[in-house]
Amino acid sequence: MRVYDIIEKKRNKKALTKEEIEFVITGLVDGSIPDYQMSSLIMAIYLNGMNDREITYLTDSMARSGDMINLEEMFGNTVDKHSTGGVGDKTSLIICPIVASLGCKVAKMSGKGLGFTGGTIDKLDSIPGFKTSLDTNDFIKQVNDINMSIISQTGNIAPADKKIYAIRDITATVSSIPLIASSIMSKKIAAGDKNILLDVKVGSGAFMKTKKDATELATKMVNIGKNLKKNIMAIITNMDEPLGNNIGNSLEVMEAIDILKGNGNEELRELCIVLATNMVILSRNISEKEARCKVIDAINSGDALNKFKEFVKAQHGNPNIVDNYELLPSSKYTYDVIAPKGGYITKINSEEIGTIANILGAGRNALDDKIDYGAGIVMYKKINNRIKKGDVIATLYTNKKNIDDIVNKYLDAITITRTKVKKNKLIIGYIK
Ligand code: URA
Repeated sequence: MRVYDIIEKKRNKKALTKEEIEFVITGLVDGSIPDYQMSSLIMAIYLNGMNDREITYLTDSMARSGDMINLEEMFGNTVDKHSTGGVGDKTSLIICPIVASLGCKVAKMSGKGLGFTGGTIDKLDSIPGFKTSLDTNDFIKQVNDINMSIISQTGNIAPADKKIYAIRDITATVSSIPLIASSIMSKKIAAGDKNILLDVKVGSGAFMKTKKDATELATKMVNIGKNLKKNIMAIITNMDEPLGNNIGNSLEVMEAIDILKGNGNEELRELCIVLATNMVILSRNISEKEARCKVIDAINSGDALNKFKEFVKAQHGNPNIVDNYELLPSSKYTYDVIAPKGGYITKINSEEIGTIANILGAGRNALDDKIDYGAGIVMYKKINNRIKKGDVIATLYTNKKNIDDIVNKYLDAITITRTKVKKNKLIIGYIK
């Protein structure tokens, strides 16, 4: 077999075979296929697409390019939720304790944030003492003891994805549905959960900007999962504005605790109830009505909050943060963003808001950048909220001084008009 012929075949819009895809992935990882040939093939895939069979072969091959973890063998029926990424998305911190308190097992490996979206691991790292790296025995023991653990992705998971992603990043080929679907799913398959819930975000703060693209991505990922024998479904959810009110690591931990206490932002709470309900359905096979009642009860009874405390303590974090937010890191300075005129906020450029949080210190642009865990944004006013001239619409938290330009950037990221807009629904659709 020659890579040249495989590139030519894809250039001519023909479907690749399982053997050809396996040949490429093996050669990429062992270094026998150079990056320039891989770049050319990736561009051909970007331009000519792949059918569902090719995407499944590619995902499977990428998953098997490194360590395969068999969570099913270790724990039986585990359940995972994966979001395609968004601004202010702290749902894992809320839904994992909810479903764990209901007896579902969550053995989750999460990533750090890069660019405008945050990462669950950075949020957990903001909790004093919390350890996001556990050795395998401690990880297994904790999941068996308290039904949940969240650790940072370790070992050699899907190395082919790392190489392909690095090439996509510098060849303008990131936004390809077959390549995004296989990238996300290869890591999910290698991580080895039986039950997988995908939260596919759509809107200004997400990779997918239209409902059509989000539906196509969700359908492809669900098909890949089913072809590889997973119990999987996707929910398409709105990301026209950041999720909840807080963006930034310790600020998001506080907001997650607020929701577990039964308070906080109504849309965030509803999204978490829907996601947790569907995780319970996937792992328990009970009716939606029953699962939703159990989830709401887990919040109202305080069981989910207690599970969160237990989880923080098990991973060496200080559980007293739950009752005293001052124990969490905070930035030195705060700056209020003042409404320049009255009306309604009718549009928020969420990607820009994510970038602002990043500039304030909450995120990183390269994997070894240092994070300011207390930095971020509290948004008091969101889409269709009425504001008066002079109202404080947000507070920015940072260790930086003289940030007038960042305050102005925030004002540029929002649109204020005289009338309200029709808001997109929070839950846009289900793909099963
Ligand atoms: N997340 C991933 O892991 N891969 C992509 O290609 C896009 C988002």
